[in-house]
Amino acid sequence: MRLEGIHHVTCITGDAPGNVEFYAGLLGLRLVKKSVNQDDPTVYHLFYADEQGSAGSDMTFFEYPGARPGRAGAGMVYRVTWRVAAPDALDFWAERLGAAGVESERDGDRLLFRDPEGLELELAVVATNDAPLIADHPEIPAAVALQGFDSVHAYAAEPDASREFLEGGLDFRVVGPDTLESRGEERGSLYSYDRADARGIQGAGTVHHVAWASPMDEHEAWRQRALEAGANPTPVIDRFYFRSIYFREPSGVLFEIATIGPGFAVDEPADHLGERLSLPPNYEHLREQLEPVLTPLPNPRP
Ligand code: ZN
Repeated sequence: MRLEGIHHVTCITGDAPGNVEFYAGLLGLRLVKKSVNQDDPTVYHLFYADEQGSAGSDMTFFEYPGARPGRAGAGMVYRVTWRVAAPDALDFWAERLGAAGVESERDGDRLLFRDPEGLELELAVVATNDAPLIADHPEIPAAVALQGFDSVHAYAAEPDASREFLEGGLDFRVVGPDTLESRGEERGSLYSYDRADARGIQGAGTVHHVAWASPMDEHEAWRQRALEAGANPTPVIDRFYFRSIYFREPSGVLFEIATIGPGFAVDEPADHLGERLSLPPNYEHLREQLEPVLTPLPNPRP
């Protein structure tokens, strides 16, 4: 039983329209689901991914309108890295980002930049046999497009305990002094940490949690595994597009284990993902009240 790398990364935005412009318009991801927060249906939960909405490519945002900027600290993911195919993709992105007023910093096979709310993002040239998870965008050739997640980087106050939990409990494999890999039959991703004791502030431009991908039939067993390794997992929660459990790893980073499937085409046709507001079944009867109060968003595919 192995987790299949990162399933999704969920972050916080105070500016949903700007968020759509950046992740769909500029980075070229597909807005695959325009939904609402299951605890507060007056704010969005936006999902960006590849063309199919695959686990491994899914960057999601809770909208807290007007949220103050946060700061990553101990127990938080501070950087999200996507794969690209080759160094010339980094040239393309440095130019595209620069033309949009986004500064980037090249370090060998890596390009580091920030989203408009300060979230640290990175593109890395990575040799892999994992299938590239690409979205279509008229200005971005497939050869240079983002290919799904490579890694997340976190600040850890208890790195030894975290390593022990990840290795012993979740079957991650140590691949470097501060880096572990979660790799299943189809895909893998890296989890790297830096030692840090200073607490952060959850707010706009910070990562809320990282989800790891489980085949549907192993999900309950992973909950048991997390429990046995000393974590305190929630019961299984139905997120409609996948099922989820949540727990904190020993350094405090919020982890989720999410099922691969049923997927984003469960409530709308695959070729029209994200075009209309998707509501959880228990909020569907409120559609007429909710649509007018949600922030108007730009159409990422006019
Ligand atoms: Zn999640």
